[in-house]
Amino acid sequence: MKMRIGVLALQGSFAEHMESLHAAGAKPVPVKYPEQLDGIDALIIPGGESTTIRKLLNRYNVGIKIIDLANKGLPVYGTCAGMIALAKHIEYPEYAILGLMDITVQRNAFGRQLESFEENLDIPLLGKKSFRAVFIRAPLIKDTGKKVDVIARLKDGRIVAAEQDNLMVSSFHPELTGDLRMHQYFLTKVKNT
Ligand code: GLN
Repeated sequence: MKMRIGVLALQGSFAEHMESLHAAGAKPVPVKYPEQLDGIDALIIPGGESTTIRKLLNRYNVGIKIIDLANKGLPVYGTCAGMIALAKHIEYPEYAILGLMDITVQRNAFGRQLESFEENLDIPLLGKKSFRAVFIRAPLIKDTGKKVDVIARLKDGRIVAAEQDNLMVSSFHPELTGDLRMHQYFLTKVKNT
């Protein structure tokens, strides 16, 4: 049986995540309404615009159910705006959307001049070959709580991916390059949870 991985399909790059999951051997399930969260093995929250995602999470009553399921152990991977959605602390203005993971996140951390860029990251969890990471108006992880493990850093040391128990986040978009290793790592996590 293929793992059923929900992809929050309110806004942003959910179609690309669904393609990556399919290529990685899982069954992607689009999630817009709360009842679509029933029976999934894990959830991905894609990049997009976090303020819009926040509004839609409330409008469709789906946010409160994600919080409940994640607290019960559902694996959740948030990329870019999805990372912002999972963070307990967002800087300036200080607020939280789902508020699940003990990280402090700075939105649009690379400023206006650098709307998007790519960098090859060495991510020990993914093996020797570097991972081409795409950053689009990306957030940064400024601070991590005790239970958080860092997965990836930029060459200058700034944190761009991390995990905490059943939760995982990355500043970059792993669904845009065809390199499936971040999705595969998440699927391994799902199997082991
Ligand atoms: N800058 C966006 C935000 O603050 C995130 C960008 C993205 O998801 N690619 O929500």
